[in-house]
Order: sequence, then C-alpha cells, then structure tokens
Amino acid sequence: MEKGMVTLVGAGPGDPGLLTVKGREVLRSAEVVVYDRLVSPAILSMIPEGAERIDVGKEASHHKIPQEEINQILLRKAQEGRQVVRLKGGDPFVFGRGGEELELLEQHGIPFAEVPGVTSAIAAAAYAGIPVTHRDFCSSLHIITGHARAGKPLTIDFEALARTRGTLIFLMGVTAMPMIVEGLLNAGMAADMPAAMVEDGTLSRQRRCDATLSTLPQRAAEMEIRSPAIIVVGKVCSLAPRFDWFERLPLKGRTVLVTRPRERAGVLSDRLRALGANVWEHPCIETVPILPCPAMEGALEELGRFKWVCFTSPAGVEAMWHRLRALGRDARGLAGVKLAAIGPGTAKALGQCGLSADYVPAVYDAAHLGAGLPAEGKVLILRAEVGSKELTEAFDRRGIEFEDVAVYRTKYDHPLSPALRAAVNGGAVRYAAFTSASTVKGFVGSVGEDTDFSRLVGLCIGEQTAAEARRYGIEVRVAREATIDALVELAAECGERE
Ligand code: SAH
Repeated sequence: MEKGMVTLVGAGPGDPGLLTVKGREVLRSAEVVVYDRLVSPAILSMIPEGAERIDVGKEASHHKIPQEEINQILLRKAQEGRQVVRLKGGDPFVFGRGGEELELLEQHGIPFAEVPGVTSAIAAAAYAGIPVTHRDFCSSLHIITGHARAGKPLTIDFEALARTRGTLIFLMGVTAMPMIVEGLLNAGMAADMPAAMVEDGTLSRQRRCDATLSTLPQRAAEMEIRSPAIIVVGKVCSLAPRFDWFERLPLKGRTVLVTRPRERAGVLSDRLRALGANVWEHPCIETVPILPCPAMEGALEELGRFKWVCFTSPAGVEAMWHRLRALGRDARGLAGVKLAAIGPGTAKALGQCGLSADYVPAVYDAAHLGAGLPAEGKVLILRAEVGSKELTEAFDRRGIEFEDVAVYRTKYDHPLSPALRAAVNGGAVRYAAFTSASTVKGFVGSVGEDTDFSRLVGLCIGEQTAAEARRYGIEVRVAREATIDALVELAAECGERE
C-alpha cells in the first residue's frame, strides 16, 4: 500500500484568488479533503472529482465535530494510504489549530507538510486599506485571539499590549470586542486611538467600520458587524478612508451570475472578481461532442474537397481536434485548408492546437462571418447542432457552397435550482453574464420562466444573446463586441453607473 500523507493547506481569507499556487497544486492532487466552514466554494470547486470530501465545519459554541475527532479522521485516512489535504481558512498555524492536528500524526509517524496561507489578520486589513505596519506609525504588529472560553473573562495582558505602541489585530473577537476595548482603555491607551473592524474581509460583501477606540463598540453595534471580522487597533487605521481600494471597485458588493459551462467559466469569473464582484457560478448548459460523428470524420478524411473550414466556437474547434487526434492525425491534417474563426476566442482555441485562423471577421458574429469570408471554394462548417441560420443564409446569398456539420450539441437538462430562483426573485443577483443565447435558455430553465427578472440585468455578449434574454423580459445591456474582454468592460461600466 502506498504511504499516506497529510498536508495542511491554508485556503486564505475568502477571496479564492488568495489561495497560494502551491496550495492549489496540492489540492489538485488530493484524494481526501477535510475542510472548514470558512473555505470559499470557489476553492472547494478545485477539489478533484473523485476525491472524498469531509466537511468538519465548526459552529462557534456548539462544535459540529470535536477537534479530537478531526485529528482521528486525518490519522485514519493517512493510515489508509491516502493523500489527505486538510484545508483551513487563512493560515493553518494562525489560530487555526494546525499545530494540534499535527501532534497525533507525528506520534504515529505519518508524513506531513504545511502550506502556509494568507491570514485574514493581514489580508482583511489590506483589503480595507489598512497597511498593518507603516514606518510613521508603528514598529510592531501583534495578532491576538479575542476568544474567551464560555463564561470566563479574557486573559489578555492589555498593559503589555498598550506598551508596545504597535498595531493590534484581534481575531475571534467580535463578541468580546467591548471587553477588549475596555481592557485597552484601562491599560491607558488613548481613547481617540484609531480603530477599525473588517467584516467578511476580502469577499465582495466586505464591510469596514471606522472608529476610535472609545467609539468602536457603538459604531460596530450601529453597523451590526458580525463574525467573521477582525478588529484592528492602531494609528494605521487612520489610512483606511484614503487607501480602501477594494471598496472603490465597480462591482464591489454586487453578485454576478456566470452561466457559462464550467470548463469555460474560469477566466470570466476571475476577471469579475477582480472588479470586486461576488461571482456565482451556475453553469446552465453543457456542450457535448457528438460521437460518433461520421459526417465530420468523412469530411476530415477528404479535406481536399474544401477550401475553408469554418468554426463558430471554441467547442467546435475542440470537437474537431479530438476527432482528428483520435484518428491518429495532428495539425498537419489541416495543412491544405484555410481556417476561419468567428472571433478571437475561437481563434485562440485554434491557437491552442498549433493552428492559426486565416480569417476572423471585423464584427464577431455569424452574419459578418458569412458575409466576409473570402469566396474561394467550398466551405466546411463545424459547429453546434442548432447553428445560427445567418451564416448559411449569407453563404447561400453569395453562392458559396458549404457543408454544415454538427459536431457538438448543447445539453440543457440542469435541474431547477431553488436557491438561484430565490436569489433572483429577491434581487440578490444583480447581473447575469450571458455568453450565448443557449446560456440564456439554460438559465431560464434553471430558475423557471415565471421568475421575477425585474431586478436583474442581463449582460449579453451580442445581439442574438440579447434578443433571447428580451424574450423572457430580462433587461439587457450588450457588449460593444462579442469578446469576454468587452463583456467584462460592460460589467464594469454598469457597476460604475450604479
Ligand atoms: N487561521 C485563520 C484564523 C482562524 S480564527 C486565519 O489565518 O485567518 C477565525 C477568525 O479569523 C475569525 O473569528 C475572524 O476574526 C478571522 N477571520 C477569518 N476569516 C475572516 C474574514 N474573511 N474576514 C475577517 N475576519 C476573518
């Protein structure tokens, strides 16, 4: 049996982009993942399909799974010879009980490793424009737990802390915050010392509460600051109003639904997150290659009959490439023909196969592709089962001969999602990004046609997509051209205008 191992991995404070590169690599090869409550869904979605997932998320007072039991789970899974990842919020060793979890493993001679994570103590402050140190203000940084055992007073040496004149950061301190403030005031810290709290740090819904030491309890109560939040005390807090770059992002606090098929969602989601959005990935369609596909295979065998091969999506390129490779051939199989792509995304997919597009229309849609493709001979179209008529109609008009071959189909059979439906009805989803008419259809199928779309804005990649959205009464905005770049730009503009 292969030897098991446990790797503690810091998942970072919430923004999935703050998982480290090494953390992601380790997660991708995990066989068992044991994770906590504060780990973001976007990170959990990186867990490999076949891996076992164990949720040991704990609630504050009534522990869901006791620590001792978590230690035992890690030990047992490793003894079974599995590659275990223990995924923890922030950094595993910063008030994360990482050390406790290693003890039992060490006693049993189980190999282990730790991948540090970005701790919320520093990252939540950073996303609120608070540099935890600054030469003008302090020369030390202290991270303290504000957790008090039920019914017991805090055991913090406030005098010692006050003497440091450093930045103080309290974790797990929301409940005890008034006691922490009192302790610091009693220890002689100035009542007007700048202080702040950052709730849900690094997430789109992050909130910052500015105060002084003496006004913090009242300000936090007014804003109803809840856990998870950090408390920061120190002069560096005075910089927050000037440096809170996150708050200024155009989509900060807004939820954007990404409806693309899972394998294509990544780039769009990341770019929307970089604009401050809370991204909700809900793939509404799936594209599946048509197999077997005698029509395509026949055409690929006799490519000499064609002058051009025309692609209208990356999925079409991928379906062609898979068949070509399965037939034992490679890019040289397309040596005799010219290649056309509807837009840059499709051209890029060709690029990934070592092929370059000989023609891309100036406007990235079927009508312009059909109207602009040089008329030099017969065209092979490799595309979806139900392709846009605009392409073939344009060829007909121009007397261009073609063969229209369906190489993949769109599957819509995603179940109704009550959670998404409720969120759209309640106005919690502000924008939905649609990258094709089929994603609109899939979305409406996922929430039901009778959903209230009045508070939703559909961000559409092109006119055809927009037309589909309008059919269901969805208010739309259309990207200036049919690219992911333009769609992201549109999202930013909409957010800025709100
Ligand atoms: N190991 C974690 C800390 C675990 S203790 C880390 O390094 O970040 C849990 C405490 O961390 C919470 O009570 C809260 O104070 C803080 N915390 C975790 N995630 C947070 C977030 N996104 N925003 C603000 N505080 C957070």
